Amino acid sequence: MDIQNEKVVSIHYKLTNNEGEVLDTSEGKDPLNYIQGKQNIIPGLEKALEGKTTGDKINVTVQPAEAYGEYREEMIQQIPRTAFGEIERIEPGMQFQMNTQNGPVIVTVTKVEEENVTIDANHPLAGKELTFDVEVMEVRDASEEELSHGHVHGPDGHAH
Ligand code: ZN
Repeated sequence: MDIQNEKVVSIHYKLTNNEGEVLDTSEGKDPLNYIQGKQNIIPGLEKALEGKTTGDKINVTVQPAEAYGEYREEMIQQIPRTAFGEIERIEPGMQFQMNTQNGPVIVTVTKVEEENVTIDANHPLAGKELTFDVEVMEVRDASEEELSHGHVHGPDGHAH
């Protein structure tokens, strides 16, 4: 069975950056299951997998626009330290969830000063070219329920 929209696909993958560092991998874990065409995975990877079948291996480098988006300077903000309320120790690299007009966003602290804290709301992988090594393990039809939910169910999926 070929990968096309609304198929459930199981893949093993390894994600590396341009420096060759492994950022994420399914090695030693269960394969990742997703539904093609439901934006469960980044668009560039979905495109590269279209038409592939069980056993196929691909290596694809995805540009930021087709991955986690371009890095946007305007997503960097200074906010008063008091906005963190009771939290006593704030250090660069810490991540917080903040509520915005567009819903909750994970922000990373990049700089801490006496009065102000600089936060970056870009996705940690924004602006990065990403290379995926992927092996297709299984392709199957999605159930009605999976399609209506837009994600995969199963023994290892979530239960509800
Ligand atoms: Zn569901």
